[in-house]
Amino acid sequence: MSLSQGRDLFMTPGPSVIPDRVLNAMHRAAPNIYEGDLIETTEGILDNLRKVARTTGDPTIYISNGHGVWEAALHNVLQAGDKVLCLTTGIFGNGWANVATAMGIEVQLMDFGTGSSFDAAEVAKILRADTGEIKAVLATHTDTSSSVSNDIEALRKAIDETGHHALLMVDCIASLGCEPFEMDAWGVDVMVAGCQKGLMVPPGVAFTFHNNKAVQASENTKKTSPYWNWTPRTNPDIFYMRFNGTPPTHHLFGLDEALKMLVDEEGIQNVWARHSKQARAVWAAVDKWAEAGAIRCNVSDIADRSSAVTTVVSDTVDLTPLHRWCQDTAGLVLGLGIGFGDYEPHQIFRIGHMGHMNPVMLLGALSTIEAGMAALQIPHGEGALTAAGRVLSS
Ligand SMILES: *Cc1c(COP(=O)(O)O)cnc(C)c1O
Repeated sequence: MSLSQGRDLFMTPGPSVIPDRVLNAMHRAAPNIYEGDLIETTEGILDNLRKVARTTGDPTIYISNGHGVWEAALHNVLQAGDKVLCLTTGIFGNGWANVATAMGIEVQLMDFGTGSSFDAAEVAKILRADTGEIKAVLATHTDTSSSVSNDIEALRKAIDETGHHALLMVDCIASLGCEPFEMDAWGVDVMVAGCQKGLMVPPGVAFTFHNNKAVQASENTKKTSPYWNWTPRTNPDIFYMRFNGTPPTHHLFGLDEALKMLVDEEGIQNVWARHSKQARAVWAAVDKWAEAGAIRCNVSDIADRSSAVTTVVSDTVDLTPLHRWCQDTAGLVLGLGIGFGDYEPHQIFRIGHMGHMNPVMLLGALSTIEAGMAALQIPHGEGALTAAGRVLSS
């Protein structure tokens, strides 16, 4: 007999929970793609995307996932033979580096491990020694595998202090709409994001954002892909060119609704504050469990932890049965472990706390995990739920 007949709860770090309002907004007849409301809706989306990213620069919407916009961003400002410095604190940092390598871009990889954020002073040292070969620094804001969150503002400052002209390109696929990010104030030249994490829309569209410095770099770049080229999409003569073909009509309706919720109703700073508090509640619980020594937060320093996802690791316990218990017995779907460093996937689970989330979902997930650990005799400290509740009511 399975008890799990209600609505499953997805606590994965993307795709995240889709609000009913977003689903309902998508549930409609096909629109005219040449004239009418869709054009105005898209203008509203671009405006709200700027507000989420805190930029006056231009967003480009691609029918794509995150892997696609990794490629799009590189394609517009770099070409084969160029060199980039790629900072990594997890599997996704390596992923972007691999895409660059496959495109013929020379990658100098700086691997900062998977337990803490990157060291901007080390990056500055490399840039100071560089004779102008490095065209861009690639950084991940939050690496979703390790749940390390990196200080992009400090990175920009460190780059500026060297006087180096490299573009700063940032992967915000996991963090946009969850964690504070200030594209213009922090001097980020190119940013990439997707719709299926903090932005609460089914996977299918992804974004690049770029500023004037990136436009200049783009003008000096030979582009071989008409699809990824952002120039004709930016100020198109006809709407059709914004998407280099048929627009993703229903994704636009969903995205429009999601952005209204985040920007017009809740306010992006409140969205960040909510994520921060909910993340701290998760850490309070996991840190209590960790007192028994079997599991712990992968990132020990709170300053380096993401408020969108928490990676939990074990040095001693196989976590696959816990994963299965949560999913099959209780209807809680946790993020799978992506192996890194010394950890195999079965020593990891990830709690996604991004997007459309409230305390009942969060506490439900935490108490389910605790019940699973009790059922499977995984040692865990007492008082986790009380600790989480205290954070939520503080
Ligand atoms: C999810 C994610 C990606 C990959 O996005 P896809 O849509 O799965 O291609 C890349 N980088 C980060 C930081 C992510 O969280």
